[in-house]
Amino acid sequence: MRVAQRAQPIRSKSQVLRSTNTMITNSQEQPEELSFENTLRPQRFDEYVGQAQVKRNLDILIQAAKQRGEAIEHVLLYGPAGLGKTTLANIIAREMGVGIKTTSGPAIERVGDLGSILTNLQDGDILFIDEIHRLNKLIEEVLYPAMEDRKLDIIIGKGPSARTLQLDLPKFTLIGATTRLGSISNPLRNRFGAVYKLEFYQEPEIEQIVQRSARILDVKADPGGAKRVAKSSRQTPRVANRILKRVRDYAQIHGHDLITEAVAEEALKMLDIDAMGLEPTDRHILRTVIEKFNGGPVGVSTIAAATMEEVETIEDVYEPYLLQLGFLSRTPRGRMVTERGYAHLGCDFPVERQEKLV
Ligand code: ADP
Repeated sequence: MRVAQRAQPIRSKSQVLRSTNTMITNSQEQPEELSFENTLRPQRFDEYVGQAQVKRNLDILIQAAKQRGEAIEHVLLYGPAGLGKTTLANIIAREMGVGIKTTSGPAIERVGDLGSILTNLQDGDILFIDEIHRLNKLIEEVLYPAMEDRKLDIIIGKGPSARTLQLDLPKFTLIGATTRLGSISNPLRNRFGAVYKLEFYQEPEIEQIVQRSARILDVKADPGGAKRVAKSSRQTPRVANRILKRVRDYAQIHGHDLITEAVAEEALKMLDIDAMGLEPTDRHILRTVIEKFNGGPVGVSTIAAATMEEVETIEDVYEPYLLQLGFLSRTPRGRMVTERGYAHLGCDFPVERQEKLV
């Protein structure tokens, strides 16, 4: 049921554009953009840009399973949010010509929920569990025999009269996705036949994604415009699509019918996203470590407290890209801002650390 929205106070153009900025480079999926993302989501391997190694391996897995007339092995995909794990799972289902049921770790609250999902699958179907590291332990244990022997053990009744019933399950494939491979227990990880890591994208690949999305959205971007959007997109397709959408709004409001480098530049400036794709929170995190903790090492929970962010948000949203850029490093004693991180913010790298590097 939808709740009627209250009328919003009228805001200026720049307020409207700025207000949407806080989460732009957050690579996690936002509920309101689901339909937008679905239209942009590649449907086939040839539309799926980049990740060549993973695509090659998946292709072999799929062709071999098809030749044998079997379901493919269970697949675990891992890597930062927005890199294309859900998209790949859907492409695999399409290539195999099977159905796909999508759910997520936190959405499966009870053993019964998993039971009803599994028993409703058809032979060959794919069950996609996003954020599989957040599955509750009890449910994980029910998943083991389901993955291995395609059996579901259910307990009927309580106390001394309780009985265990074993059900045969269809020959399904589990595709799990996670941003945190380290949080997956070994028994669960070992039950996947194939484990693939998705990498951050190269800039030309993101440019290709931006051009493809622009065509679908019916906006025109010249090579310079696409390049500029790609450069600020944290090497992440979801962020690239989101920035493209904001830049499109900006171009429309300002009467530009082509997204050029200059138009993209102006829009990004307004959104406070810099040339490396850092947004105010990223810079705030770096600046806090530099100014309050002399560049580190400092524990992530201390950074979280000092920046008023959640530890999980820092670890899942901000840190992966700062590490990828080499602005932040992880040491056994905590996080440190690197010389490149200092340089990006225009701060002087401490002399004592320069000496240590020599
Ligand atoms: P994840 O599941 O890893 O968080 P998604 O699969 O939901 O990421 O991808 C986010 C969005 O980015 C998709 O809707 C799609 O539009 C786009 N996308 C992801 N990977 C690619 C790719 N390789 N080529 C083109 N677009 C992509």
